[in-house]
Amino acid sequence: MSVSMQFNHKRLQSDFNALATIGATAEGGVNRPALSPAHLEARAWYAAQVKQAGLALQIDGAGNHSALLRSPNPSAPTLLLGSHLDSVPEGGRYDGALGVVAALEVLRSIQEAGLNLPVHLEAIDFTDEEGTLVGFIGSGALAGTLTPGDLQNPRGGREALLAGLTRAGLTEDGLFTARRDPATLAGYLELHIEQGPWLYDSGVDIGVVSGIVGIASFRLAFSGRANHAGTTPMAARRDAGLGAAAFILAARQLVLDNFPGCVANVGALRLEPGAFNIIPGRAELALECRAVDPAELDRLQTSLLERAQREAESFGLGLEVSALGQHAPAPMSQLAQQAIQEAAAELGLSSQSMPSGAGHDAQNLAPLCPTGMVFIPSVDGISHSPHETSRWDDCINGANVLLGAALRLAGSSDCA
Ligand SMILES: [Zn+2]
Repeated sequence: MSVSMQFNHKRLQSDFNALATIGATAEGGVNRPALSPAHLEARAWYAAQVKQAGLALQIDGAGNHSALLRSPNPSAPTLLLGSHLDSVPEGGRYDGALGVVAALEVLRSIQEAGLNLPVHLEAIDFTDEEGTLVGFIGSGALAGTLTPGDLQNPRGGREALLAGLTRAGLTEDGLFTARRDPATLAGYLELHIEQGPWLYDSGVDIGVVSGIVGIASFRLAFSGRANHAGTTPMAARRDAGLGAAAFILAARQLVLDNFPGCVANVGALRLEPGAFNIIPGRAELALECRAVDPAELDRLQTSLLERAQREAESFGLGLEVSALGQHAPAPMSQLAQQAIQEAAAELGLSSQSMPSGAGHDAQNLAPLCPTGMVFIPSVDGISHSPHETSRWDDCINGANVLLGAALRLAGSSDCA
């Protein structure tokens, strides 16, 4: 048996194209928010492909849809391959969808080649990856990190969550039955578009993801004194807006100077009372920062908050900081990274180790089992947009690397 087997390119492309018509938008993207009618239609399409391929279909309590190719050994662990069929509102055709159709194609290819592997193979479509409702419902439920509290005040609103669950025939209690024993998992591999410009600009074929960034979020409130904008002398003002503005600029410089590879963003800013003729008495902003290394994420957030305090003092302002939670960085396993790198090399493709600046289901799987991600170039780095595109050759390369890496991780060469 060769680990250099390749799959049916035409079938992958026709699957991809068929899927892109479900929830298609006039701009050329797709609109398939989690558990929306279009998303459920995509899932029904997937279920039909699974059955047509003669694979077993499994739908768990969290709505995750899986194709199964069973090992002759019933007690074998399961190697998961997958991604997600939901999209952001007005999203692109590649994000998530490519990884799901490629995972399915890997199973079909191995089935058709008549390979008996020492693992069960599962091509899984995870629920609510994009966070329309809660965020990572499917992978969080599988990993056991989803909690009942997460469902009480979800980011998409409680009503939207309950309506979506009802549409999909799911229940809140049922979600938690999707939990798996890590001992049953041999690993998780995900093919995904990079969603940034690095691979495309550098001409590298394949990104071997080293880790998924950790994210820390804060709400900062600078407080000064609201006063008449016409009669208060400039030197006597305690303008909360100035503290916020100075901090936004300082945060950018701090990251550029001291935290290469990290990012910080102020994505929302509100001045109160908020009028032409009133000096802002309060300025609230939403701060997020990301780093791949846990210690660096700690240093980054400490530095940003210290800087905010200094800017507040320099304008005579108070500062309140609310920490709004944190996703820990998720390093990918060495075993999986090596399997991906070797699979790329065997296909004559260039590859490069790189972090993922975006969150993925793989971050929930990483603490459970050997987990890896394969990135392919995004044209001009555009994603979460109807203009999101990857060259089809790159998609084929990525799917072939997924296949090669899966065979390696399955330990298939040991039982040839
Ligand atoms: Zn995605």
